[in-house]
Formats: sequence, structure tokens, C-alpha cells
Amino acid sequence: MGRTNSRDQELRTRAEAVIPGGMYGHQATGLLPDDYPQFFERGEGAHIWDVDGRRYLDLMCAYGPNLFGYANPQIDAAFVRQLGLGDTLTGPTALMVELAEAFVAMVSHADWAMFCKNGTDATTMALTTARAHTRRKIVVRAKGAYHGAAPWCVPRPTGTIDTDRAHQIFYDYNEVASLEAAVAQAGDDLACVFAAPFKHDAFIDQAEPDPAYARRARELCDATGALLVVDDVRAGLRLARDCSWSRIGVQPDLSTWGKCIANGHGLSALLGNDKARKAAASIFVTGSFWYQAAPMAAALETLGLVRDTDYLERITALGERLRSGLDERASAAGFSLRQTGPVTMPLFLFDDDPDLRKGFCFSSEMLDRGVYVHPWHNMFLCAAMTDADIEAFLDAAEGALGALKRQSPTLQPVPKLAFLTAGGTR
Ligand SMILES: *Cc1c(COP(=O)(O)O)cnc(C)c1O
Repeated sequence: MGRTNSRDQELRTRAEAVIPGGMYGHQATGLLPDDYPQFFERGEGAHIWDVDGRRYLDLMCAYGPNLFGYANPQIDAAFVRQLGLGDTLTGPTALMVELAEAFVAMVSHADWAMFCKNGTDATTMALTTARAHTRRKIVVRAKGAYHGAAPWCVPRPTGTIDTDRAHQIFYDYNEVASLEAAVAQAGDDLACVFAAPFKHDAFIDQAEPDPAYARRARELCDATGALLVVDDVRAGLRLARDCSWSRIGVQPDLSTWGKCIANGHGLSALLGNDKARKAAASIFVTGSFWYQAAPMAAALETLGLVRDTDYLERITALGERLRSGLDERASAAGFSLRQTGPVTMPLFLFDDDPDLRKGFCFSSEMLDRGVYVHPWHNMFLCAAMTDADIEAFLDAAEGALGALKRQSPTLQPVPKLAFLTAGGTR
């Protein structure tokens, strides 16, 4: 406590005047503890520095994009080299073909790739491709799953209209009967089934995919001629050197990628199989910056590291140490924590904490100790993290749990999280 964040406060005040609401999107929602900084100055490896000069071990990894460390020298050198040659040109460079070849070689279901900028571009393109392929309208997707911020899928629909979200039927992730019912309801108008690689919704425990559910999704798509889409924008490359559902032996027709594929540089991708090739070629999709060469150079370097290093085994081992170490420290302090999801994308929620007041207090105390965690969104490990970073995390956790224990009897509800227990929505 007693932290000063004067520069951050000053920037927030100035932002209020020139940026609507002072901020938008996922950093705007006001659903982080009040002492969390809004503005950052730099990042290096596994650490970020806020504008007041404080350094944090960053368990958010930019909400996913940081896989091989901020300012990774090898990746950024490729990016800068290409910047010197040309980035946004009248057409793409040869890197586009090389990158598509690299993805097709790496992802077993993929026969082709198309590149765009954000995950939302890729998921929207997947939907358009499926509708073009089937000439049908309905998308079946899981309740509460995030697929981006376009009007068809944005979680807060202010400013969108009903027809933006027409022709969608929802199912409960991992529930075969619910999926079957949604597909039956779609009847002969089913264009595609969307699935996250695992359940990584905000505010609730994560869940690994039930293979029976994933296989049933594949069967239902095969039976109806609809396309199966795995949205790997968040989890891609943190679970497998392939589409994440390759781990359970289910191959989608389309997969969507983004976040870490260029280690923080602006690039996303839609990958597909031959079945969907003609439809993908038939839709009109583009953007002024979609052919940018420098992010493609960064992505090629990133995929090289994915292929040639043991990063996945290392972040998995680090994630396991973090999980078991945190469990030990939590129980020693008399708390029970639910740690869910893959160890490389951890989420921890306290038992008996329906309004997250414990989670908020713990997160603030971690921030105070130089570790940036999130109270309700899954976190991410990156390959720049070391054993020493996990130790630093666990030391901070021990201190933060002690502080939480002292404050527990007098903790107050967090007003901005009242919706969690009021049964409403944000
Ligand atoms: C972040 C995310 C998206 C959207 O990606 P943007 O780059 O933010 O547009 C889509 N799907 C999932 C699963 C995501 O986590």
C-alpha cells in the first residue's frame, strides 16, 4: 500500500478529456482493482513497467500475445529488418506465402491460410466462409464463450441491433445433449459449430474439453455438412504445436488464430482444410494493413521458435510448479483455491468468494509485490519466464495470502462487481 501512481493518474485525467470514457475495451471495463495501472511504458521478457516506473512480473502476457518474451531480440530483429525493406506495400511480399506454408506444415487439419489483423477478423471470416460454403445461416456456439468484439459476437451488445446477432443458437460447452439440441434446432440451416479449444470464459472456472463432446461436434458437422470451427485465438500455441484440439484427436474444418502468432505484432489467421477452400476463395475480405510484411516476418520467426525449441515443455513445467506451489501456500494460509484450465493458461478463484472480494484483495496485494495477476480472467505463461520468476511469484503469493488473511474479516464487497451476485450482467 501507499503506492504512488501519479503519472498514471495524470494520464487517466487527460484521457478523460480526449478518449471517450477515458479508455475503451478490455482495459476500460473498470473491473480490475482500483490500484491497477492503466498505462505502461515498456516490456522486456516476462516483465512490464508501468508509467510510474514500477516493474511487474506479468502473468497476463498482454492477454496472450506475449509468448516468447516482450521485445524478443530474435523476433523483433526480423520485424525491424522487414520494416527497413517495406511493411505496408501495394501488395504482400513473399513472406505471405512462406508463412502460409509454415502454418500448413505445422497445423495438421490445415491445407491453406489467410491472414488478417485481429482475432475478431479471423472469427468473423470463419463465419462468413462457413455461410458461403453451406449457403446456410445459423451458427451454433457455446454460451459465454468469447469470439471477439464484432457486432455478431460482442459480449456487451450496446449499440448493436437484434439482427446483428440473428441466426445464432447457443449450447452449454462440454454438454453433448445441449449441443445436439442446438444442432437439431438449427435443422437444415446450420452453417457451422464454433468451439473454444477449452472453456475459458471470464469469471468462472475453466474446463478442459470433454473428448466425447468434441467428437460429437465433429460427427454432427459431418452429418449435416456444416463446418466445425475451433477458435484457437487465445489458446493457440500454448497447448500444442498444432490446433489445440489435435490433443484430443478432433480435427476442425476451420481454426482461427491470433494473439501470440507474431509474438505481439499485429497478425491473425484463418486456417482451413480443402473442403472449405472454395468458399474461402469466394468471400471478399481484406483490410488496409492485412498484407503488412513486418508482422509476417515476426510470425515466421515465432513459428520457427515454436518448431525448434522446447518452449512448450518449459512453460508447461513452469505452470505446474506455479500451480502446485500456489496450492501449497494457499492451504498453508488456510485458503482453498480453485486452479483450473491448462497450467500454461492459469486461472485461480477463491472458494467462498462469490463476489470476488478475496480475489480482488489478493490481486492488489500481488501487484504491490511486483506481480501482475488478474482476478477473474485466465492468465498466460510465456517462454521468457524462468524458475526464478516462479519463485518470485510464489514468494509474492505467500505475502499476499498473509495480507489477505489479515484483511479477510473486514473485507467489503467491491461495488463494481455487484453484478456478479445480483444475477444481472455487466
Ligand atoms: C481475444 C480473442 C478473440 C478476439 O481477438 P482480437 O484480436 O481481440 O480481435 C477471439 N476469440 C478468442 C477466443 C479470444 O480470446
